[in-house]
Amino acid sequence: MPILNYTEIPEAHKGSGLQDTFEQFAGEFLELLGIHLVERPSRGADSGKDLIAEDVRKGRLGKSSIRYLVSCKHKAFSGSAVSPTDEQDIADRVKRNGCNGFLGIYSTIPTSNLQDKLANLGFEYELFDNRRIERELFRTREGLALAKRYFPLSIKQMAVENPSPVLIFGELQLVKCEICGRDLLGKVKPPSFLGGVLGYCIETTPMHEQEPTIVDLCWYCKVKCMKKMEQRLKEKNLEEDGWDDVYDYLHPTRFVTLLLQNFDLIAQMNSQARAKFETFVASAFQYVSRELTAEEKEIRERMQEMGMSI
Ligand SMILES: [Zn+2]
Repeated sequence: MPILNYTEIPEAHKGSGLQDTFEQFAGEFLELLGIHLVERPSRGADSGKDLIAEDVRKGRLGKSSIRYLVSCKHKAFSGSAVSPTDEQDIADRVKRNGCNGFLGIYSTIPTSNLQDKLANLGFEYELFDNRRIERELFRTREGLALAKRYFPLSIKQMAVENPSPVLIFGELQLVKCEICGRDLLGKVKPPSFLGGVLGYCIETTPMHEQEPTIVDLCWYCKVKCMKKMEQRLKEKNLEEDGWDDVYDYLHPTRFVTLLLQNFDLIAQMNSQARAKFETFVASAFQYVSRELTAEEKEIRERMQEMGMSI
C-alpha cells in the first residue's frame, strides 16, 4: 500500500495560486537526489518544459553531465496514467532546450506505451512514478522531512499506523526476557505465540496460611522460554499465581484497564515484586504515551532536582 497521498498537493491547472506546488516539490525532490536544478519552475508559457536539471557524474577520467528536460505531471486527482498524449514531441522538446536527457516526475504511473516510446528515442531517460518517489523520500532523514512538508496528512497517518516508543525517560527502557534476553516490548504482535508473559509469582509452600503474597515477577517469551522459566521458578520454590500477556500492556486502552483491574493484585505484592512491577509498567508506558511538551520536561527536571520521583 502506498503511504503518500499525492492529492495533498494541489492540482496543477486550478487557479488557486498553488498551481505550481507539484513542480516546486519536483524541484526539491531532484535536489534531494543531488541533481542540480538549472532552471527553477516559473509560471507562464513554458515551451513544453517544466524544469531543467543537470546530473553531474564523476568518472575515473573526469566529469560528465546529463542535462535533463524535466517534465512534471500531476494526475493524482484523476488517477490516470501518463500516456504519450500527455508527453508530446519529447525529442523535439529535449533538443530545443539544449538537453540530452528526459526525466519524468509523475504523481501516478507512466503507461507502457510511454515507456516504449522513451526507450526508442535514443537518449537517456529516467521516470520517477509515485512509488519510486515514495521510496526515495523514505530512504533518508532529509527525504522524510521533505515528505512531511508536502504530504503532512499522509506522514501523520503513517506515524499513527506505525507507532514507535516515546523516549520519556531519555533513553529506551527495555524489558528483556529473563531467559533468552530478547526485548519483549519491541515489535510485539497482538497476542501470539511469539509474545511475552508477565508472571506474578507466589511461594509454592507458603510459610503461613494467609492470602498468598506475590513475592516476585517474571517476564519471558511465551512459548520458547516457558519451560526454562518454570524450572527456574521451581528452583526458587516459586510458582505463577497468574499472568498477563505483555502485549496487553502495550495497547493504550488495555494498559489503563489492566492497571485498574490489577489494583488488588498490586496490593498483594511485596516490595521486591512491586519494584519489578513498577519497572515493567514504566517501560510499557513508553509505548502508550506521548512525547513530553517542553513545559512538562521542565517540570520533570525540576522535580528530579528536588529528589522527587517522576
Ligand atoms: Zn526468551
